[in-house]
Amino acid sequence: MVTIQNYINGEYLPPVADRWIANYDPSMGEVYGQIPNSGSEDVEKAYQAAKEAFPSWSNTTLEERSKILSKIAQIITERLPELAEAESKDNGKPLSLAKAIDIPRASSNFQFFANAITQFASEAHESVGLNAMNFTLRQPIGVVGCISPWNLPLYLFTWKIAPALAAGNCVVAKPSEVTPVTAYLLGEICNEAGLPKGVLNIVHGLGTTTGQAIVEHPDIKAISFTGGTKTGAHIASVAAPMFKKLSLELGGKNPNLIFADCNYEKMLATTVRSSFANQGQICLCGSRIFVESTIYEQFKSDFISAVSQLTVGHPFDSETNVGALVSKAHLEKVKSYIDNATEYGGRILYGGKEVLVENAENGYYLQPTVIEVEDNQCKLNQEEIFGPIVTLMPFDSEEEVLEMANDVSYGLSATIWTNNLNRTMRLTKQIQAGIVWVNTWLMRDLRTPFGGVKNSGVGREGGFEALRFFTEPKNICIKYD
Ligand code: NAD
Repeated sequence: MVTIQNYINGEYLPPVADRWIANYDPSMGEVYGQIPNSGSEDVEKAYQAAKEAFPSWSNTTLEERSKILSKIAQIITERLPELAEAESKDNGKPLSLAKAIDIPRASSNFQFFANAITQFASEAHESVGLNAMNFTLRQPIGVVGCISPWNLPLYLFTWKIAPALAAGNCVVAKPSEVTPVTAYLLGEICNEAGLPKGVLNIVHGLGTTTGQAIVEHPDIKAISFTGGTKTGAHIASVAAPMFKKLSLELGGKNPNLIFADCNYEKMLATTVRSSFANQGQICLCGSRIFVESTIYEQFKSDFISAVSQLTVGHPFDSETNVGALVSKAHLEKVKSYIDNATEYGGRILYGGKEVLVENAENGYYLQPTVIEVEDNQCKLNQEEIFGPIVTLMPFDSEEEVLEMANDVSYGLSATIWTNNLNRTMRLTKQIQAGIVWVNTWLMRDLRTPFGGVKNSGVGREGGFEALRFFTEPKNICIKYD
């Protein structure tokens, strides 16, 4: 049994009220640890530690801050095998994916913001003719809250923490209760890297108890949240009357637009990945696939043949392409869309069944599933499923597919496959999404703004956008004679 504790003021502590929740290994469907279900008293302790650390941390030189964050990045890289194994066991994702993507990216997040803070500058405005000079001071906010989901655990947790710390804030952070282990290990790493006590505090527990206590805390002045749209709306309703600064990265139902003139082979291989990577549990997965009707039948047959070659298996098995879904509850939710596929307007073309993996019969495994739909307004095309399910639908014209791509409440990302430059320009401009990939998917440059429009969120992470979020701009106007 792995017992996880809170990381407060540089120390590991049990929850004050001694309340615990079970942690599951989704690949085996069994409990393998316990985590605190922290209450407001634990969040208060974390807040006090952060508050105490703030005056000193916010005055640490940029070189020193940058050095410590780089050191954290370096230790994450050194401990990659152990962290990847922990992530894979906790989440159900293939170990190969955790090794290649999740953990390297967690390290890159720290390294990126260690560098970015040394380049972050503010503006000066000379009021010419008035003998006045304005400059903008960008000051850290104080104690900020970071709350992250289970799909890319350490990757998304550090994507918030790194810029918050780089900008000089102290942090009270909560990872998802479903995948707490790598966040737990991060405490040790921060101590080893020399991060001063109290600068980062990690509290574990349910969203409705621990998360809620962070959002409700009157002196935690900014909340950076990634998770579901419904949770985001709730957090906004709690935080708004306290005038907290909010960054909300929420759900998606991303369109993948495939035109006949694209590079077919490249598109096909990437579309398999953009559909089923991480068991389809990436907010950026292209879950609505629209294919130009002239190549629709060909695509359908090639896609299904490629998907049928994916191996569903234990996350630690090197042959595995699709691991376990994160939890029993999530498996049931995803399966409900399959069970009701006909009623929800679809026809299953491939998959749809649970998979029994040898020696892991209780694990939460599901076949990658392809469903054909006829109407973009159907439930399968309108609701975020967040699992290994994609829908296919043909289209005849650019106008028609653009309308369908935008006719959804979400607006996180979109992917377009075409070699027509004019069409690329027209569509990328008109598509309602925060991120548009053309002839690629999930290619990330950490300097770019990251986030969604419509019900996919408010605000942007990444690069200087994140550093702007985690600082308050102050205008200073100096009049001289
Ligand atoms: P979730 O909303 O259930 O939980 C996210 C986090 O919020 C967890 O740590 C949870 O404990 C906490 N939480 C829950 N209720 C809370 C409350 N009342 N107050 C404060 N915190 C609370 O989401 P999830 O199921 O963990 O993650 C899946 C969702 O995340 C999907 O909708 C997915 O699209 C979204 N997501 C978005 C992005 C993005 O960048 N836009 C990235 C990854 C995942």
